[in-house]
Amino acid sequence: MNLIDPKVVLDKKEGVVEIKNYINKIKIIKELYTGGSNTASYICQMVGISLPTANLLLSDLLEEKIVVKEGRGQSQGGRKPDLYGLAEDSFYVVAIDLNRFSGRAAIFNTKNRRVTEVYTKNIPLNSESATIDLIYEFGQEVINGSGIPGEKIIAVGITMPGLVDGVEGFNHTYLKSAKKSLKEIWGKKIGRTVFIENDARAKTLAEFKFAQTGELKNVLGMFVDWGIGLGIIIDGKLYRGFSGFSGEFSHSPLFDNKDISCSCGKRGCLESVASGTAVIRLAKEAIALDSESILAKMAQGKGADLDPSTIVEAAIAGDQRAIGILSDVGLDLGRGIAILIQLLNPELIILGGAIAEANQYITTPIQQALNIYSMAKLREKTEIQLSKLGSEVGLMGAVAIVNEHIFEDSINYN
Ligand SMILES: [Zn+2]
Repeated sequence: MNLIDPKVVLDKKEGVVEIKNYINKIKIIKELYTGGSNTASYICQMVGISLPTANLLLSDLLEEKIVVKEGRGQSQGGRKPDLYGLAEDSFYVVAIDLNRFSGRAAIFNTKNRRVTEVYTKNIPLNSESATIDLIYEFGQEVINGSGIPGEKIIAVGITMPGLVDGVEGFNHTYLKSAKKSLKEIWGKKIGRTVFIENDARAKTLAEFKFAQTGELKNVLGMFVDWGIGLGIIIDGKLYRGFSGFSGEFSHSPLFDNKDISCSCGKRGCLESVASGTAVIRLAKEAIALDSESILAKMAQGKGADLDPSTIVEAAIAGDQRAIGILSDVGLDLGRGIAILIQLLNPELIILGGAIAEANQYITTPIQQALNIYSMAKLREKTEIQLSKLGSEVGLMGAVAIVNEHIFEDSINYN
């Protein structure tokens, strides 16, 4: 089976039954990819086919070595049924996670496990058309360097900051020079289906899909690095909003700090007081006041390369000013989170990014702010949890996007 572009195969097929069977096979593969291994009777329900048809298609897929038997499932009375799963090597996807300055990439198998090293490349995001090529070249380097047969690498997920319209395939903040959809440009060059998404939304989806149990329905992911990214899951689905720009919370005008300008050019945004950028501004002030502190010593020689993790490390090492900075930032961040709780009533808020590494130095002031600014009835049911995927969350976000959208064209084929 050609999984790089099953739609091309479908276009060549004739006969209603043949087309139907092919689409159902793709549906089975998608079900096993997104839902994990299961029994034939479960698969036939999910795909909407009879059990004999499911058994027939599964035996084809077993023969093609796309599907394998993985032991036995739970008995419903009588013999334990066979468990079917995707062969780990039946296909692979490329995950690329871009931040404002650089990119990370790796290849993942059908079980969402990383099978290559993590590649890194300096790619400053901007609106030059050369950057679009640079991102394509990065993907190609990873594919070529992996040693995996090219026909087994079937899709690429790319996540990045900015106003990303994942459906149409545009980034309206960076890479604005693209005349056509980025999905289309990269897809043609790489020769595989490409999916793009805003990084915070993708990370939230990854935490939701890969690190939580299936019972949660209303979850927010907040990722505080240089800026603040927000992803919203409502009723178990990623909420994109009308134009695909939901979650631009970091530029909400919540504060009256007229003297600090934000990266967006406005003043008073949450990001200007409660992000990695704010942490660095406050750290520089603190270092100027006390050049003998732990923080000042840890920051020595870093100059413009000083990043928020240094302040987090200084706080953990006991630097009072660093602890104070994180406390101030946490209180302001908590004020923002209080609004989200009042507005969306989530059951879980996942906190990730460099600032979340500060652990209780950031969660304690956040909780304190929630006690002050949100209503007890809403707050007491909302759990705040640190990211479980940690530094892998960016790449897993790109995998989650592929996982969610792969084979859509073939499944909706008519
Ligand atoms: Zn702003």
